[in-house]
Amino acid sequence: MTDLVIETNQLRKEYGPKVAVKDLTLQVSRGEVFGFLGPNGAGKSTTVNMLLSLAHPTGGDVKLFGQNPANPQVRAKIGFLPEHFRFHEWLRATEFLTFQGKLYGMSPAALKERIPQLLNLVGLADSADLRLGKFSKGMLQRIGLAQAMLNRPDLIFLDEPTSGLDPLGRRLVRQIIHQLKTEGTTIFLNSHFLSEVEITCDRVAFIKAGQVVRLDTMASLLHQTTEIKLRVDAFKPELLTALEKIGSQLQFDGSSLTMLVGDQEIVPTIAQLVFEHGTKLYQLSPREKSLEEIFISIIGTDGVNGVDTGEADPGETHERST
Ligand code: ATP
Repeated sequence: MTDLVIETNQLRKEYGPKVAVKDLTLQVSRGEVFGFLGPNGAGKSTTVNMLLSLAHPTGGDVKLFGQNPANPQVRAKIGFLPEHFRFHEWLRATEFLTFQGKLYGMSPAALKERIPQLLNLVGLADSADLRLGKFSKGMLQRIGLAQAMLNRPDLIFLDEPTSGLDPLGRRLVRQIIHQLKTEGTTIFLNSHFLSEVEITCDRVAFIKAGQVVRLDTMASLLHQTTEIKLRVDAFKPELLTALEKIGSQLQFDGSSLTMLVGDQEIVPTIAQLVFEHGTKLYQLSPREKSLEEIFISIIGTDGVNGVDTGEADPGETHERST
């Protein structure tokens, strides 16, 4: 059995002239929590839809568990919480989960055991007999999470799982992700809540205008981007030249200097340089950048919304996520 749960090769999706996803090559291994980050319109949901074979790629290919994602046996191993869901408002919570479970081919006995467990886990035990039409947005998000976990999936796609949730709900999602990971579930997470991604993900890909612009482990992303604040009695030109060789994005405001370094191990070297240039050191403070700051430095602050092929083709404008 392959250890690669998700594999894409040159995956591409065009909607008419718009390239929503551009030649995406990605591999996610068993048990990983993989974050897929990008600004609005970057191509995250389109990618998830192709991974789930809900949207047909214009080019390239996808394999889940080494097989075609449309294969029913593959689908049986997957859970999915879509970003925009519309559940059956007339069904009660238990009826809804029973219906979903039957679609997965789960037995009545398995559902009888699993549904109360899940309702309890997502904090909806008291609403088991309430119709979904009477659920709040956060309650719907919680029942959505429950349906995504119903079949004990080996791979779960969570598209904005915390949108609409209060802080307690967000903490619950973090706990659930942690538990799923402990059980060996592979998790593909789209989220704009970067502090959550920072806590939960092993690796992240940053997607901009349909293209992955950076893919790295969370540990190296956070560790490799350290901001140094330096204050000395005089920034001699020779000292600045020496600092430029070991850091980047130097900014000098007259009394202090900030710069980015790739590794905190460089901090003693900076102190040494200051000393060697006969300068007094007043402040040398390293600070690891947050994922939000890293996101902005990678993605930028310009509006991004797909890229154009320049070809005029009305294409498939009807496909939308569930
Ligand atoms: P968000 O964070 O806002 O959910 P996203 O990264 O998930 O954004 P997508 O929904 O994948 O972005 O959209 C990527 C691009 O493809 C956007 O420019 C969007 O307008 C376009 N797009 C998506 N679905 C369709 C469709 N069915 N028809 C035409 N264009 C589409």
